[in-house]
Amino acid sequence: MKIESVTSKIFRHTTNTVRDSDGHGHPGPESTTTSALLTITTDTGDTGHVVTRTSDVAEALLDRFVRPNLIGEDAMLTDRLWYKVYKWQRLGGGLLTDKMLATVDLALWDLKGKVTGQPVWKLLGGHRPKILAYGSTMCGDDLENGLATPEDYARFADWMVNTRGYKAVKLHGWMPPVPGAPDVRKDYQACAAVREAVGPDVPLMLDPHHFYSRTDTLWLANKLAELDFRWMEEPMEEASMSSYKWLTANTSLNILGPETMTGKHWTRAEWVKHDACDLVRAGVSDLGGITPAMRTAHMAECFHMSCEMHGTGAGNLSVALAIPNTSFYERGLLHPFIDYDKPKDFQNRIDDEMDADGYVHGREEPGLGQDLDMAYIDGNLVDA
Ligand code: MG
Repeated sequence: MKIESVTSKIFRHTTNTVRDSDGHGHPGPESTTTSALLTITTDTGDTGHVVTRTSDVAEALLDRFVRPNLIGEDAMLTDRLWYKVYKWQRLGGGLLTDKMLATVDLALWDLKGKVTGQPVWKLLGGHRPKILAYGSTMCGDDLENGLATPEDYARFADWMVNTRGYKAVKLHGWMPPVPGAPDVRKDYQACAAVREAVGPDVPLMLDPHHFYSRTDTLWLANKLAELDFRWMEEPMEEASMSSYKWLTANTSLNILGPETMTGKHWTRAEWVKHDACDLVRAGVSDLGGITPAMRTAHMAECFHMSCEMHGTGAGNLSVALAIPNTSFYERGLLHPFIDYDKPKDFQNRIDDEMDADGYVHGREEPGLGQDLDMAYIDGNLVDA
């Protein structure tokens, strides 16, 4: 079975999220945006799909990095194909991003699932049929009754746990350009208010501003340890691994990382070797796909360490369901003004439906477990 084509479609759809000047998403008025569908097709007519950012499927980049490495190849050799594309990053001048590599890898895994008639989470190992989700909030804001005050976070966390059924909660703190941010004391006040609201038994995590100093970070970490937080992630620029080694040596709070640092599973192995984290972070989009995320998870297991998946969606869910050493699936981003459970225009259902007990279940359908509305996509195409 040979790969015959790699094609993309750009389509428009509505969104209720706006980006601030630092790139963080917040609720906003309904507007139109575009996304892309990447499709890999074999000579037997089988297809693998993934929805991604339009910049991940630029025709010139598909022509240069992807099609020459995939077309004519055995579609089932996912690992070989990942390496063929990945190696072009070295002389690619930064144009072949990890997110683009991940897009290709996800479509290949979806294809493999469709061809074999199996869900990807089972192909990857199939450790559990369901996993608890943590509700992951959007960043703080200055919206009335949004996430503007510690009381807002507390009220929303109470809804997540006591109404929607989440068994764990992660806050994203206030970040610039929101007025008053960054401020470790304000972050702590929100965390303390949430702990008070949900009680002592609900696992809580914090993802704060990512550019704190060592001293601010250590103060916040020690305060979160007093609140019995499960972990904190990425409080400092991750390029300085030494700073994280210093942090983990100086606080009892668990530090999760690295999340956005480049270098895939190799970087994560270095962090483990140097005791720069207590739990390992892996996200399929950050690492270049499911293929390197699985390597990261297995590497972490060899050191008795948990590997926590970063970000939402079918790819991260597939890995979380496939491995033994993880705690939760990250579900979000959530906000009082946004209905996360409502499918997007191009979905028949969301990738990660959650039951009343806080579990997200593995799908039994072949592939990644996406249910895309192809008629919507084809009816809303825009020129690339
Ligand atoms: Mg994070």
